[in-house]
Amino acid sequence: MRWSQEAEAALSGVPSFVRGMAKKAVEDEARKRGIEEITPALVQDVKDKYFTSLFGSKAGKAKEAKSAGHARKEDGCTECGEDQPVAEAAERKGRKIAIIRCEITSETCPGIACMMAWNKRRIHFEGYGPEDELIAMLTCGGCSGRRVARMVEKLKKYGLDTVHLSSCMMLEGDYPECPHLDAIKQSIAAKGVAIVEGTHH
Ligand code: SF4
Repeated sequence: MRWSQEAEAALSGVPSFVRGMAKKAVEDEARKRGIEEITPALVQDVKDKYFTSLFGSKAGKAKEAKSAGHARKEDGCTECGEDQPVAEAAERKGRKIAIIRCEITSETCPGIACMMAWNKRRIHFEGYGPEDELIAMLTCGGCSGRRVARMVEKLKKYGLDTVHLSSCMMLEGDYPECPHLDAIKQSIAAKGVAIVEGTHH
């Protein structure tokens, strides 16, 4: 895969701790579109589509939340709908990550491989540091994954900025790929949360 000089320059502006993820996302998108040389426009498209909360709007969100007069609270409940933690979450330094996995697979898989990869910062979690937190691990809720958007919205109040889709959602062959993957990804991207495809392989 070729990168133009301008595209490489655009990528170098991405924070180092997520540059590897961003590069992979751009190359995956180029493959999907049949593009042989990566341009700054493609880098920007991927940033806009998947990484807005990481690269574009965090400061703006903190400012927005503060000007809306949200009070600070020690903690809150994802079920109650309170939005007070927004300003606080937007000011945190570490990444806030959630793993979303397949409901069907969860009947037979306790998620150990995902957790081991996270704990050791391996494979799709390389590049994260000790300051980064896994704040939730949840299933899609079953076909067609409709609850993902609602859960992502709730977790954003706690600073969620990146969702890893578990490797079980993307396998093919004997174990079929999730047929709702594109819709699930779109629902996450629409919330301004970054997506990383994969966890432990
Ligand atoms: S929507 Fe996809 S990830 Fe969720 S249960 Fe169905 S196949 Fe699994």
